[in-house]
Amino acid sequence: MASKRDFYEILGVAKNASDDDIKKAYRKLAMKYHPDRNPDSKGAEEKFKEAKEAYEMLSDPEKREAYDRYGHAGVDPNMGGGGGFGGGGAGGFADAFGDIFGDIFGGGGGRSRNSGPQVYRGADLRYNLDITLEQAAHGFDTTIRVPSWDACETCHGSGAKPGTQPTTCSTCGGHGQVRMQQGFFSIQQTCPKCHGTGKMIADPCATCSGVGRIKRNKTLEVKIPAGIDDGMRIRSSGNGEPGMNGGPPGDLYVEIHIKPHTVFQREGDDLHCEIPISYAKAGLGGEIEVPTLNGKASFALPEGTQTGKTFRLRGKGIKGVRSGFPGDLFCHVVIETPVKLTDKQKELLREFERLTVEGGARHSPNAKSWKDKVKSFFE
Ligand SMILES: [Zn+2]
Ligand SMILES: [Zn+2]
Repeated sequence: MASKRDFYEILGVAKNASDDDIKKAYRKLAMKYHPDRNPDSKGAEEKFKEAKEAYEMLSDPEKREAYDRYGHAGVDPNMGGGGGFGGGGAGGFADAFGDIFGDIFGGGGGRSRNSGPQVYRGADLRYNLDITLEQAAHGFDTTIRVPSWDACETCHGSGAKPGTQPTTCSTCGGHGQVRMQQGFFSIQQTCPKCHGTGKMIADPCATCSGVGRIKRNKTLEVKIPAGIDDGMRIRSSGNGEPGMNGGPPGDLYVEIHIKPHTVFQREGDDLHCEIPISYAKAGLGGEIEVPTLNGKASFALPEGTQTGKTFRLRGKGIKGVRSGFPGDLFCHVVIETPVKLTDKQKELLREFERLTVEGGARHSPNAKSWKDKVKSFFE
């Protein structure tokens, strides 16, 4: 934090630059340093993030004012204080994820901010998407229904009953904020009377109850990247709740939930499965065919395989969403005791048992070492 560069310097604009100049400067830098255009350059990614942060601060009148007055301390969320910048919680992984895959929904919408009443960013929304392991492994396109908001047709978004007009709030004079003196400090607060809108509605519109907008649904196309794992989130910029007073909308996060699979358990990019093998096959060895998420595979079962033995099939797991490399498939062998035997089968097993005992301890390595242990225990 100590050696943070000046936001104006990062964007290469003057301290009194207009909103338009700031936007233009940011666009130029974003095009130049976008990670999609510089896939292998760590330096470009840093520059991109730096420019993005500078733009986010300077394009918001409130944050810009705080920055001009107090420098980085005025806008750094880690420094405490600064209230009300958007829905919290977001960021971290989701941001990195968004950078890797771009904005999968396209668009994103303009983020113009007006001066005047206090603007609020809309809340973020979460959408839980249940998918199968196969869908997660291969990726797929789907559509989801999410809430959206349209301006109310009755009042055209004003919130006031048709024929009436919202009036300017008398407490804040339409600014949406009031100044309070507290000791040495003068603190700006959201106007308690109009809640920051700067307007008072005497006769609310009946259709929207004075909110000015109506909740509807819309369909969004979602591209699920191959290899995505349980709990990962995909961000769709600007598809959250609308902002207030021209504030930007929140984001929509699609959170992935993978349903349990009948055959495979997933661990990162590796898959695990249990393979029941007959007593005879385990003794004789042979080729074992196993299912994978991309058709069938096989491995050679050695003669005399014991239960619990694991066989690793390299590259037969899931191709990682970030690594791009496939994980492995681990086959856990479980020897199955035969049941519901016919007389003939029983007869053959008795004969088999007689020959095995006759053949001595070499046929049963585990039983032999177990007997030795029991013997030394009693001695
Ligand atoms: Zn209305
Ligand atoms: Zn007010």
